[in-house]
Amino acid sequence: MKKIQNYINGEYTNATSEAWLDNYNPSTGTVYSKIPKSASEDVALAYKAACDAFPSWSNTTLEERSKIMLRIADLIEANLDELAKAESLDNGKPLSLAKAVDIPRASSNFRFFGNAITQFASEAHESVGLNTMNFTLRQPIGVVGCISPWNLPLYLFTWKVAPAIAAGNCVVAKPSEVTPMTAYLLGNILTEAGLPKGVLNIVHGTGPETGQAIVAHPKIKAISFTGGTATGEHIARAAAPMFKKLSLELGGKNPNLIFADCDYDKMLAVTVKSSFANQGQICLCGSRIYVEERIAEKFKQDFVAKVAALKVGNPLEADTNLGALVSKPHLEKVLNYINIARSEGGNILFGGEQVKVKDHEDGYYLQPTVIEVANNQCRIQQEEVFGPVVTIVTFEDEAEALQMANDVKYGLSATIWTNDLNRTMRLSKQLDAGIVWVNTWLNRDLRTPFGGMKDSGVGREGGFEALRFFTEPKNVCISYAPSI
Ligand code: NDP
Repeated sequence: MKKIQNYINGEYTNATSEAWLDNYNPSTGTVYSKIPKSASEDVALAYKAACDAFPSWSNTTLEERSKIMLRIADLIEANLDELAKAESLDNGKPLSLAKAVDIPRASSNFRFFGNAITQFASEAHESVGLNTMNFTLRQPIGVVGCISPWNLPLYLFTWKVAPAIAAGNCVVAKPSEVTPMTAYLLGNILTEAGLPKGVLNIVHGTGPETGQAIVAHPKIKAISFTGGTATGEHIARAAAPMFKKLSLELGGKNPNLIFADCDYDKMLAVTVKSSFANQGQICLCGSRIYVEERIAEKFKQDFVAKVAALKVGNPLEADTNLGALVSKPHLEKVLNYINIARSEGGNILFGGEQVKVKDHEDGYYLQPTVIEVANNQCRIQQEEVFGPVVTIVTFEDEAEALQMANDVKYGLSATIWTNDLNRTMRLSKQLDAGIVWVNTWLNRDLRTPFGGMKDSGVGREGGFEALRFFTEPKNVCISYAPSI
């Protein structure tokens, strides 16, 4: 059986304990590879490699760093088919999605930050009359930790490690143990691209053991984490006494506000995607639909008809819309939420049941599920499900829609469907969200700040925000004599 290995100091290696975890293929429900169960000893080895590489990498010219990163981007692109298939098998997502989104985006992350670092600049402040000049040095932090989740495995892993190394840091990174395969394959690409040994070290294992060891390592000075809000809180508590710099991209329960004056057909097509893309396992999915009463009946009918036409099936088949959920425990969690919704009086308009896919009977498949809800305070409206489950609530006017949209602990993203420009501006300003999409969804320009408010996180990634996070600003103040 295939054995995944850590990638430390430019070499593939087993965990020191030689202990292994099972890696499941969610589309068949079978174990298909083994993952090293790394412990703090392995994180210490990765740290040492990163630390040794830092003096040279942080002094490597921006042109050279950029050149290597662009080579990594090219190699990811050149290996699109292999990486996309690996992602699909490991995660359960449709191969078509991995090919169109996940892997191209992983390549773009390296290309974008490889270019961005050549344009990154800092400020100067002249204290006029005092004869001093201040300038800001932006220096790499040193060795940093990056921890990423299972929903967009290589996409989110590279979203973190690319800006970290572009800024001159060396990295100890951990992908989710649920989906380690593409981060493992990336090691070969890093070597082929000529990334110096030790600049990026990839350690596999469980969150509470390997992830925790990265967070607890006293010399790893910054942590960039994407994952659940409860894990983020745990990491913040563990890191606080060591005053680590933290970027936390956490959960979401994103509202999708549909007004009667919107472009209806476009809204309908995009809302199907924003509800169920990647089996609803995207932190940005619009899991709470609020629809204006005037069009609510028509919307429910049309939406359910479109959802019913989605094909749940083998992720490798070209016409599959929804593949498998990522794991058995996750499938059980989502099914439990559907039961909670039922017990809360939710009206299941479509779905709610597991699907048996021919020749893949043990895979983790679930129907896309649409639930009409009367009360904004029930658990299905307030808690993140992170699966193919969307709720529908109606509203009378803009004020009521806004009140319900903001009435959750999360604040990651929001979508507004309207052709009223004034409403667009009013709501964009008042919604509790780090990202607001108007008449679109998941449109991303990598230069823009990305992140959430409230319990959806702390800090922003993307563009120069990420490069700022991964550098330490130091003010240098020079006093000069004004005349000879
Ligand atoms: P988790 O929080 O369970 O895990 C995220 C990562 O943290 C994994 O690598 C996990 O390892 C690791 N981890 C778990 N426990 C610890 C710990 N004690 N110390 C250090 N690391 C730990 O999230 P999921 O993987 O389940 O991902 C889903 C969540 O991620 C959802 O809540 C989703 O909203 C959120 N998310 C947020 C995004 C954003 O940008 N805001 C984007 C994408 C997802 P392992 O898996 O091996 O246990």
